Amino acid sequence: MDTVFLPATNEAILQASAFLQQGELVAFPTETVYGLGADALNEKAVAAIFTAKGRPGDNPLIVHVADKSQLAPLCHVTPMAEKLMDAFWPGPLTILLMKKPSVPDVTTASLPSVAVRCPDHPVALALLKESRVPVAAPSANRSGRPSPTTAQHVYEDMNGRIAMILEGGNCRVGVESTVLDMTKDVPCILRPGAVTREMIAAVAGDCTVADSVMRPLKEGEAAPSPGMKHRHYAPKASMTVFTGKKENVIAEICRRYDRAENAVILSLTEDMPAFGSRRMLSIGATPEETAHLLFKRLRQTDEMGASLILAQGWEGEEMVLAVMNRMARAAAFDVVKL
Ligand code: AMP
Ligand code: MG
Repeated sequence: MDTVFLPATNEAILQASAFLQQGELVAFPTETVYGLGADALNEKAVAAIFTAKGRPGDNPLIVHVADKSQLAPLCHVTPMAEKLMDAFWPGPLTILLMKKPSVPDVTTASLPSVAVRCPDHPVALALLKESRVPVAAPSANRSGRPSPTTAQHVYEDMNGRIAMILEGGNCRVGVESTVLDMTKDVPCILRPGAVTREMIAAVAGDCTVADSVMRPLKEGEAAPSPGMKHRHYAPKASMTVFTGKKENVIAEICRRYDRAENAVILSLTEDMPAFGSRRMLSIGATPEETAHLLFKRLRQTDEMGASLILAQGWEGEEMVLAVMNRMARAAAFDVVKL
């Protein structure tokens, strides 16, 4: 299949919404990462997402809407969920609610809940409004690869596999949305993102974080969110993340780098001089900058042919949880505290 690749002009958005209405797949920018969209109520179109990505069928999709008024046929909206939508939509907060029968099983991997979100990006919103369909959209990468934060990344993974890619620049946030389970008494974060626990608790009064966010699932343990079971964000190289006392982290990264054949360092901007002439890529000066850069850097390490990635990590709360969740998964949980 020929993939149409166009800057997201009004005309291109019209073409993309026609593709969605015909059951075709379209990749589009959001504030988090690029999404791979299909009409969420069209079983065949949704099934094609799983094929194009090579995504396991037990990993449900997020349904994107132009605003909360589109939700009535899709799910049972609770008063507290509505309060959170009013506070954070459009924005990087995905909310799990009990689904209604119109949403096909293929979209939710047969779960009784459906994940819904309204993205904060002019192109995504224009596409959702124009197409007038709820759009199921996971990240627009091949399953297991780092999520795409530029249209070029989408092209690398999806050219020839989907109808169209809308080009809309770099994604502002850079990591996927916060996934919040609102089907229980207390809101619970299943995947951390830019809408943090602290921000949700300030509106909802309380918010917990699933403890599987920062550790691998145990043998036989049921995943609260099926996406947690699957290997994620994996660069080709093996990766170790270091946290703790800065001098120790720098010394240990240098020691391991010098012993290795083909390592690349992911360095905080301020520490780059300390690594001298070793091969490195910057992951910024704040957790927000690391979120914005991380997936791009992981793809670059692949292009550089790195066999080992030695990364500085962050400690703390708020956005650090989202960043360290992705880094830990990319490193298969090889996180060393010094
Ligand atoms: P992606 O769209 O690739 O960012 O992945 C969507 C994430 O949301 C995955 O981690 C899914 O497991 C999670 N998710 C989507 N729908 C549900 C649901 N109904 N219940 C639990 N987790 C969900
Ligand atoms: Mg994904």
